[in-house]
Amino acid sequence: MVFQIPPVKFDLDIIKKYDLPTPRYTSYPPATEFRETFTAVDFQDAIAASNHRRTPISLYFHIPFCQSACYFCGCNTVISNNQNIAKPYVEYLTREICTTASLIDPNRRVVQMHWGGGTPNYLNQQQVEQLWNSIGNCFSFDSQAEISLEINPSYVDKNYIFFLKEIGFNRISFGIQDFNLQVQTAVNRIQPEKMLFEVMGWIKEAGFKSVNVDLIYGLPYQNCQTFKQTIKKTIELDPDRIAVFNFAYVPWLKPVQKNIPKDALPPLQEKLEILKMTVEELTQSQYLFIGMDHFAKRDDELAIAQRSSNLKRNFQGYTTWAQAELFGFGATSISMLEEAYAQNHKRLHDYYQAIDTGILPVAKGIKLTRDDLVRRDAIMQIMSHAKLSKQEIENQHHIHFDEYFAPELELLKFLKTDELVTLSKDEIIITDLGRLLVRNIAAVFDVYLKNRQQRFSRAI
Ligand code: SF4
Repeated sequence: MVFQIPPVKFDLDIIKKYDLPTPRYTSYPPATEFRETFTAVDFQDAIAASNHRRTPISLYFHIPFCQSACYFCGCNTVISNNQNIAKPYVEYLTREICTTASLIDPNRRVVQMHWGGGTPNYLNQQQVEQLWNSIGNCFSFDSQAEISLEINPSYVDKNYIFFLKEIGFNRISFGIQDFNLQVQTAVNRIQPEKMLFEVMGWIKEAGFKSVNVDLIYGLPYQNCQTFKQTIKKTIELDPDRIAVFNFAYVPWLKPVQKNIPKDALPPLQEKLEILKMTVEELTQSQYLFIGMDHFAKRDDELAIAQRSSNLKRNFQGYTTWAQAELFGFGATSISMLEEAYAQNHKRLHDYYQAIDTGILPVAKGIKLTRDDLVRRDAIMQIMSHAKLSKQEIENQHHIHFDEYFAPELELLKFLKTDELVTLSKDEIIITDLGRLLVRNIAAVFDVYLKNRQQRFSRAI
């Protein structure tokens, strides 16, 4: 099925009206529903069930270390300049890989692998090689596998970039956030423009298949004019994908954000103007708006996957392998199997201790109910394809859509009044205006939301 990606339309008043705390739906149910009653044994059972499905595999490896703290950061990180702390981590990671891989059917192919963090290039070349070999010894990879990692461009040289390509990475991602020096200084992440262009030059010269860069809007001292310069320079940099994230200011959850001068944060109206300008500039250039915060060139795999309805959301954002099941390794990482999600311990001490005890380092998780599965499919269709086919949900789950979701269809009528959706007998279609509020539309199908609305970042 070939699907045309719809454009985006702005109505600042409508966007303001729906600017409520809403999950990002990188999973459904969201991670806030994970419970400690879900144990390593439950995860083992879920792996056994997943072996029967024989689905392809996606792997994620979390490297939590960073050289310095960026004040906007919401990730689970360990800040240190002592590179020796990565040594035991790689060893424990290797043990976790061996234990988990022994439970997975060896005939299942790895079609995707991603190293994230933290800062994967915190590892030196020897440590990268050690981890790479451990993975290679335990899993078999598809010859076309997408193999990506995140880097911090301040801590790489040309030799390291070429080493990554030679060892087998074929995609790369790095954070810019903003080119403006005042903004960079306020968030403690100074990355000179010259250096960013130089690193991109090495990446292109090395021949990586796809490059993603991250930007953030809503940071201190940003305004529409200065961020427009950042967008123009990013277009000049010519990445294949651009993620433009909304800064979630939550210092009560992330104490490092207390270093940010609150008075310098752009007000909501300015943020909306920045977002509007960003979407216009990027879509008038060579980028398509994929959804949420993601843009991609027309010939990038993300855009192709969306056109062929193969796009899916997972904890890394959008992914091109809709049917792959995700296994996460390392502290904090999340595994997303078809019917269960599991998250590893966040603190290194707890993570190491579990592995020393000989069990999978699972801290919490959730086993999905039948209702969760139905709702997840509805939410993921909306988040990934900007529409929902009732027939597909009915065929997949043997329900009568209009009866099962009668209360939700009533709620959707309000969104229809605001022209965010159109409702037909067979489909729910997100309008051009609704595309920036896709989280709010998906939230209609979320039964957990009422109890936990306070715990999410705002939609814009
Ligand atoms: S933004 Fe990236 S480099 Fe900065 S502290 Fe967070 S994980 Fe580390």
